[in-house]
Amino acid sequence: MTQPPSPNPEIPPSPQVHGLQLDQQTRCLHYHSTLDIIAIQMACCGLFYACKDCHDALADHPIRPWPASAQDTPAILCGHCRHQLTIRQYLASGNRCPHCNAPFNPACRNHYHFYFEAP
Ligand SMILES: [Zn+2]
Ligand SMILES: [Zn+2]
Ligand SMILES: [Zn+2]
Repeated sequence: MTQPPSPNPEIPPSPQVHGLQLDQQTRCLHYHSTLDIIAIQMACCGLFYACKDCHDALADHPIRPWPASAQDTPAILCGHCRHQLTIRQYLASGNRCPHCNAPFNPACRNHYHFYFEAP
């Protein structure tokens, strides 16, 4: 009996995050308060960006929000602990990372419609 190689299933490789003037916790040129530590995988191209404005600046196509049917996609990256949350987990998180408890920016709520279609 041999186990398939699985280095550490608890820690998936951290995706590369795209954006302008990123810091270590995925803050960017546009959103750089202490709370702006998440990155979002874009439904249009599958790449993680720090924010939609970074996507606007760097991608050659318009942003497309995740459909409501995609809420179990792990599209949110906590820039603090690099844990990936599903959209559903993020929306239910109470603006805290469920893994490391780092606070997220509650004002992101005002931008949800750019990233996620309402369920
Ligand atoms: Zn894109
Ligand atoms: Zn940005
Ligand atoms: Zn975290």
